[in-house]
Amino acid sequence: MTLHEKVSAAHAVTLQIDHELCSGFADCVEAAPDAFELNEDNLAVLVDLEEPPLEALVGAAESCPVSAILIFGEDGTQLAPEA
Ligand code: SF4
Repeated sequence: MTLHEKVSAAHAVTLQIDHELCSGFADCVEAAPDAFELNEDNLAVLVDLEEPPLEALVGAAESCPVSAILIFGEDGTQLAPEA
């Protein structure tokens, strides 16, 4: 598993993107354009996780068609996507 991970201090959450799952559909970029962008390999990477509201980050995770984006709380509980 190739994970791209970043912490949001503002929301006290950690986001992970599984680059083996990510297929570059860019639904996440549409849902939260400040937080996600596609890199040169057409894989989603995390940009600004402080300004966008948590709802937008959760919405992006929920929108990913292959569930490549996971959001965890400080205690390690998975917050999104919902199982
Ligand atoms: S929505 Fe999912 S598959 Fe699409 S670019 Fe974002 S992380 Fe990758």
